[in-house]
Amino acid sequence: MGLPPQLSDAERSRALELAKRSRQVRAQAKQELSRGMVSFTQFIDAAKENEILAKMRVVELLESMPGYGKVRAQSLMERHSISPTRRVQGLGRHQMQALLKEFDIPQSGSRGRLIVLSGPGGVGKSTVTKVLRESSDFWISVSATTRAPRFNEVEGRDYYFYSNEEFDSAIERDEFLEWADFAGNRYGTLAEPVNQALSKGLNVLLEIEISGAKQVKAHAPHAHLVFLEPPSWEELVSRLEGRGTDSPERRAARLALAQEELAAASLFDTVVINDQVENVVATLIRLASS
Ligand code: 5GP
Repeated sequence: MGLPPQLSDAERSRALELAKRSRQVRAQAKQELSRGMVSFTQFIDAAKENEILAKMRVVELLESMPGYGKVRAQSLMERHSISPTRRVQGLGRHQMQALLKEFDIPQSGSRGRLIVLSGPGGVGKSTVTKVLRESSDFWISVSATTRAPRFNEVEGRDYYFYSNEEFDSAIERDEFLEWADFAGNRYGTLAEPVNQALSKGLNVLLEIEISGAKQVKAHAPHAHLVFLEPPSWEELVSRLEGRGTDSPERRAARLALAQEELAAASLFDTVVINDQVENVVATLIRLASS
């Protein structure tokens, strides 16, 4: 064997930088696969254009698939005679077809769209969500929260009401797709039910506040972020003032926050003005089918 090549300092630091970047890309891809945000087929398509993904070991890819630990991944590889060191780009045609078939979703063949409805508190997100639930076959995510139930709220329909300890352990077990502090309470989207609904080909709506929406985009770049704007600032103030379920302190805090939140609209894929609930609902349905 010949001697290893002598690298200059600049070449060595470039090589280290490249290696670091590759690790980051692979780690992110694995996380997205394991959360069900990217399907096997989408990964394979991406690997055709991306050398880092193409060079990922097949075993790493399979172990990242939801429900596939080391044992299942290994047995799948043995079944299709895939060597433990094989990389994605080195898979034979038959092996690739077998894996695509293994992870194909039988019910519909395609995943649903993930739509995130966000905007300042009091803008009317929950009314839009209610009408959307009644007038479409969207699957609406039910969040977990540490906030106390309001008198008209039902466990499992409006929220899963968690204690602080329950919320902490859900974070520890990495059960949230995103979570955020909002006006003194914590709110989070449970990843597993969202992934299952998307896998069944259902369109999914998350109705969440702005920092959570940004987290979703970071984890699931294909999610479509919709920002709901009030027709005017005066309208938003009157909605927040008129909300009988909150204390005066809480309403004041929400108003101050809403002012900051309105500035976030530019980070979203679509901005919709909430002039008529039916118009907003129609826009969401259109976005899901586009
Ligand atoms: P409320 O206490 O009025 O039900 O909700 C307060 C805010 O929390 C609303 O803006 C609502 O959209 C947001 N929210 C509800 N569920 C979630 C969630 O799972 N994650 C995040 N980030 N925000 C949520």
